[in-house]
Amino acid sequence: MSLSENRLCIFCGCAPNDKTREHVIPYWLLEMTGDPLRVVTFGQNFKKDKAPIRYSWSNFVAPACDGCNNKYAALEAQIKTYVAALQRRETLPASAYVALLDWLDKVRIGVWLTRHMIENHPVAITPHFHISTRVAQKDRMLAVYVFDSDNKGINLLGGDSLIFNDMPSCFGCRINDILLLNVSADFFCSRGCGMPHPQSMTLLMGGENSGMLKLDGIGYAAEISNPVTDLKLFKPVVWLYQPIRLPSDDPSFKGGFYGHTNAFDSRLYERTLQGQSRQGALFRQFMDRVEVIADPSASIEFDAVVGGDCAMQKDIAASIYDIQIRLFNALRYEWVDPKEPGAGDTAYRQLQLDHAAELADAYRKLA
Ligand SMILES: [Zn+2]
Repeated sequence: MSLSENRLCIFCGCAPNDKTREHVIPYWLLEMTGDPLRVVTFGQNFKKDKAPIRYSWSNFVAPACDGCNNKYAALEAQIKTYVAALQRRETLPASAYVALLDWLDKVRIGVWLTRHMIENHPVAITPHFHISTRVAQKDRMLAVYVFDSDNKGINLLGGDSLIFNDMPSCFGCRINDILLLNVSADFFCSRGCGMPHPQSMTLLMGGENSGMLKLDGIGYAAEISNPVTDLKLFKPVVWLYQPIRLPSDDPSFKGGFYGHTNAFDSRLYERTLQGQSRQGALFRQFMDRVEVIADPSASIEFDAVVGGDCAMQKDIAASIYDIQIRLFNALRYEWVDPKEPGAGDTAYRQLQLDHAAELADAYRKLA
C-alpha cells in the first residue's frame, strides 16, 4: 500500500485506532523557534510541476494512534530540556545524546513519511518501516554545530532530495543557533567501531524480496579505526557514532546478534553502552582520535571550533547532500528478477544523484 492513498499511523504503520495528529516537528520546538503558526515554503508539489508548497509548520502533522503517540511523550519532554541546554552551550551526559539520537530517528522518519503525503512524490514508496520500527534499530551518528546567531527558526535539510525519498538515512535540523546533523544506516559505523559486521551487504532489487538487504560474511576488527568512517564533515563541537546490533536467530550467532559468535566477549562488552545489550557505546570522533564512552552518565563537553575550522551554515547544509550521495553510491545492488535494471531504473537513479548534487550546489552558492 502506498502512503499517499492511506492515512496510516506514522508510528506503527497500521490504520490508526483513536486517531490523533502527530506534529512531526513537535509543537514545543515550533514555539521555541518562533510563531508556531508561521508559514514556510516547504518542498515542491511534484503533481503541480514542482510548484513550491507554502505550508504552516503547525499543519505539518501526520495521522497517529493515540497509544503510539503517547509512547513518545516522555522522550519529547526530555529532548525539550536537552535542546534548551545545547542552546545554552551546556555539557550533557552521554545518555542525553543517546536520547537525541532516538529523537532524530523519530523526526527523520516522520519527515520522510509525511513529505511523501504532502509533496506527491513521483515515485511512490511502500515503506518497510515506520517510526516505531526504526528508532534505535541501525547504526547512527550525530554531529552538533553551534553558531553565533540570533536568527530564530527551523530548517530541515536533506529531506527534500530524491535520494532521501528512497533512503532516509541522512538529514539535518537547524534549530535557532544549533544544527544537528544525523546519519543512520545499516552497519554504517560498526566496522570502524570494532563491532561484528557483515563483510558485504547487497540490496535486492526487483522480485519478491525487493528492498531486502542480503548480508554475507563477518568482519570484526580488534582495533577501533580512526577516523571511524570515511565521512568528511566540517568540525562539529560534538561528533558521536553509535553502532547498533542486529538481532539474529542464526544458531551460530551465540550472542543473539549478527556476527556475535561468542555468548560473552569482553572486548565487545567494553564497547557496549552500560546497561544495554543491543546498543553500542558512543564513539566520540575527535580530529586526532576516537574516545569510547560506555558510561551513560559520562559528561560530553563541547570541543572548541575556532578560526579556519568554523563553517558556515550553508556549507554544512551542502555537506548533508554530499553525505547522501556518498551513502547512495556505496550501496551495492543485485537485480533479481529481472536480472538487469530497466532503462527507467537507471535513469531515475541518475536523476536522484543529480538532484542531490544540485541541492548541494544551491546551498554552496548562497550569499
Ligand atoms: Zn499506531
